[in-house]
Amino acid sequence: MRLVMLGPPGAGKGTQATKFATRLGIPQLSTGDMLRETVASGSALGLRAKHIMERGELVPDDVVVSVVTNRISQPDTANGFILDGFPRTVTQAEALDQELAGRGIELDAVLELEVNEDALLDRIRGRAEEAAKNGGCIRKDDNPEVFRTRLEVYRAQTAPVTKYYRAQGLLGTVDGLQSIDAVTAGLTAVLAKAALLRIGDKISDASSIGKHSS
Ligand code: ADP
Repeated sequence: MRLVMLGPPGAGKGTQATKFATRLGIPQLSTGDMLRETVASGSALGLRAKHIMERGELVPDDVVVSVVTNRISQPDTANGFILDGFPRTVTQAEALDQELAGRGIELDAVLELEVNEDALLDRIRGRAEEAAKNGGCIRKDDNPEVFRTRLEVYRAQTAPVTKYYRAQGLLGTVDGLQSIDAVTAGLTAVLAKAALLRIGDKISDASSIGKHSS
């Protein structure tokens, strides 16, 4: 099954993507994580990405598209994948469609988490306080000021991606302010409605039940 998780920063995409990846036995592809790895590698590209990410802006489309294209060429994606944090612009969405079409495959569904901005700001403050309390590391882009930029970027550049997928009939939206389990149930219901998954399917069965065979 090939899925995209959409939603503003802090909406819980990563949490849900991890759960569904395990459940469906397919890899979770987080562009944020992939880019952070590139930054950690210390390459020239990583250095460029580091500054952009610390400001809360978007890494250029061509860079991210090539990272994702390489990743979805790996054999572990043969049965599908969950993209988390990509596409973040309509240009990226179009590039993904083109890439998949070139391989004769397509997306099965796009799962959107809807959360209002005030709630997101509260969440991110909570996340930073929690990390500080536990002595964990706080992401540089998780401070309220940069977070505001990330929200603005989301509104301007990523929100139109929702429209793009709605027009393709692929979009299912769930209220991201519910408990983690309730969001998971909501997303499961979206997939069930799209005939991609039956509610209550056992984990081992889930990956084989799809509109398309993978
Ligand atoms: P979040 O979803 O919480 O905003 P991510 O870990 O997905 O965080 O992304 C962190 C940063 O990585 C983004 O703010 C952006 O700078 C960069 N990034 C991640 N995915 C993309 C993408 N698809 N296009 C451009 N930049 C991206």
